[in-house]
Amino acid sequence: MVFSCYLCEKESVYTTWFCDDCRKVKHIMNCYGKEGVLSILNKTCLRDNKQVGYKIDTIIKSNALKKIEETKKEIEKNEPMVLRKKKLQN
Ligand SMILES: [Zn+2]
Repeated sequence: MVFSCYLCEKESVYTTWFCDDCRKVKHIMNCYGKEGVLSILNKTCLRDNKQVGYKIDTIIKSNALKKIEETKKEIEKNEPMVLRKKKLQN
């Protein structure tokens, strides 16, 4: 009889409660304790409000830089030939 892994609920298992990857997670939990693993996951995988702010700032800056580059390319593309020739002479 086939069951879903009790931890990830994605993988099929036949004779055990956990798939191979989740078995490894279970071993880590046995070593560090449930609270220890949960603490590590909270610190490394989840963001607090301050960290969310940093991420938002990074995304906004990245989008702004992309927009600037697109605008520069657009300006260069639409720049009249006269100006291009002038630039080449200088
Ligand atoms: Zn699993």
